[in-house]
Amino acid sequence: MPDFTLPPLPYDYAALEPTIDTLTMQIHHDKHHATYVTNLNAALKDFPAITEQSIEVILINLDTLPVPDATRTAIRNNGGGHANHTLFWEIMTPGGSKTPTGALAEAINATFGDFDSLKKAVNEGGAKRFGSGWSWLVADNMGALSVVTTPNQDSPLSEGKTPLLGVDVWEHAYYLKYQNKRVDYLAAWWDVVNWDKVAERFAAVKG
Ligand code: MN
Repeated sequence: MPDFTLPPLPYDYAALEPTIDTLTMQIHHDKHHATYVTNLNAALKDFPAITEQSIEVILINLDTLPVPDATRTAIRNNGGGHANHTLFWEIMTPGGSKTPTGALAEAINATFGDFDSLKKAVNEGGAKRFGSGWSWLVADNMGALSVVTTPNQDSPLSEGKTPLLGVDVWEHAYYLKYQNKRVDYLAAWWDVVNWDKVAERFAAVKG
């Protein structure tokens, strides 16, 4: 039963400058994400059968996993932290396309009106999320889009939704550069979204 491992960043720590500063990327990936992985493995050490599954499947089935409540909470927090951050690194890139294209763009326009309205919904969700959490563009099993937020490291997977894009609004994601100005971080963050990857995720849901 293999342990979960910290995936390497798919680009350099400095690659998302100036939107996300190098030191934030180093601490966020090497310390915060690494700690979620360490704690997830610790929580699952007595449940080897569960570690045979992907973290996504584990989170989809979170409510029915045959584990004590304390372990379920540890999986929710640290498994969610692992999955959420793995996605976060993947859906960012330096110099990516600045807007969604193709079927994803059509679905965004049909659901939200236009791309700016999607950004507004995600940013408002992130700004209003009290304390720590995430703001997401998600799809249901039929591919219908919506914007949701989750507290802490809760994953939309545990609510039956597939995250296509998510922005981390924990202070550790932005405080060194943006301090208390979460709204400024949210406004700037769209510059580093990897729309090719988000479109791939949408295509996978649509099947
Ligand atoms: Mn984070």
